[in-house]
Amino acid sequence: MRVGVPKEIKVQEYRVGLTPGAVREYVAAGHQVTVETGAGNGIGASDEVYQRAGASIAASASDIFAKSEMIVKVKEPQKGEWAQLREGQILFTYLHLAPDPEQAKGLLASGCTAIAYETVTDAAGHLPLLAPMSEVAGRLAIEAAGAALKRTAGGRGLLLGGVPGVQPARVVVLGGGVVGMQAARMAAGLGAEVTVIDRSIPRLRELDDLFTGRVRTRFSTIESVEEEVFSADVVIGAVLVPGASAPKLVTRAMLKSMRPGAVLVDVAIDQGGCFETSHATTHAEPTYEVDGVVHYCVANMPGAVPVTSSQALNNATLPFGLMLANKGFAAMLENPHLRNGLNVHRGRVTNKAVADSLGLEF
Ligand code: NAD
Repeated sequence: MRVGVPKEIKVQEYRVGLTPGAVREYVAAGHQVTVETGAGNGIGASDEVYQRAGASIAASASDIFAKSEMIVKVKEPQKGEWAQLREGQILFTYLHLAPDPEQAKGLLASGCTAIAYETVTDAAGHLPLLAPMSEVAGRLAIEAAGAALKRTAGGRGLLLGGVPGVQPARVVVLGGGVVGMQAARMAAGLGAEVTVIDRSIPRLRELDDLFTGRVRTRFSTIESVEEEVFSADVVIGAVLVPGASAPKLVTRAMLKSMRPGAVLVDVAIDQGGCFETSHATTHAEPTYEVDGVVHYCVANMPGAVPVTSSQALNNATLPFGLMLANKGFAAMLENPHLRNGLNVHRGRVTNKAVADSLGLEF
């Protein structure tokens, strides 16, 4: 199949749909890969590196869209991109269509077949193409918290792990899923005192087994959240209720009872955030302060580490991408998990949840 990789054009997006390593796998499987010039700049992969991996280089995105049977990207297509998609062409990328009727209209009008990373499933019912970015964000959350805790950044002025003879920071993680577990792991690894709060008892059991006492676990109630948050130096917001906005577990009123200079990192900001006072920020200006509490609410955290993120994403997308390249649309008929990723096909929305939230016929 002719596979094309355009350069990402969304603001501050440095990741790339196929890394040179992934290109080698497609080429080894007999596919032709064309990469837009400069597509790998954000991860330090030059056109020459892609050529050595077996790709051809195209001078423009329009060349890629015109000649490819399948387009592999990272972010949802922007206006100028969806206008270039056509009937029968496969688009494999993050789409996040539900809150984006304009993009949905563009994709429907193009007639393309769009598979969304975020709705592809695995045998355990998880979302394997979302998990790597949650892993990145969870680990980054502790680095962000460590930076924001510094006095020079407006924080309490303490070191996450303390030093011998001095107590470490208290880190509370709300939500012990993929993000929460990685955050807890990083914080514990740095020597912080860590508590994870979740409303799923089976999940708390798993975490308790995994961390063998190094991390405390608590069931999520109004009272437990208050108790932990009031004595925390860092609170990581990592809750997710699938298909819904994040519950506001920390209210504005609660901030007044928190330690001055404490840090809130709201990883769940892409679902509206789980702190009442959160609003999305950017890597350029990641933090702001409310009632003496520092807030970090960057909506695309993995974008700060595009080398790690692109590799992690490619590791997860590769088997599905190869299935699509090898078999085309038939891959979806054979593989139910890939089929769950199908969001748009020939002018129709093919995912019920997405269709429902857009108010469109399924
Ligand atoms: P997940 O489903 O693996 O985990 C969510 C956890 O929250 C679950 O264990 C669930 O039981 C728990 N939970 C739900 N309601 C709760 C409550 N009231 N109290 C305590 N726990 C509760 O999800 P995830 O992959 O860890 O993602 C978490 C959030 O991070 C999502 O909103 C995701 O979109 C977001 N995220 C953001 C970025 C970013 O750049 N900001 C990057 C990746 C993921």
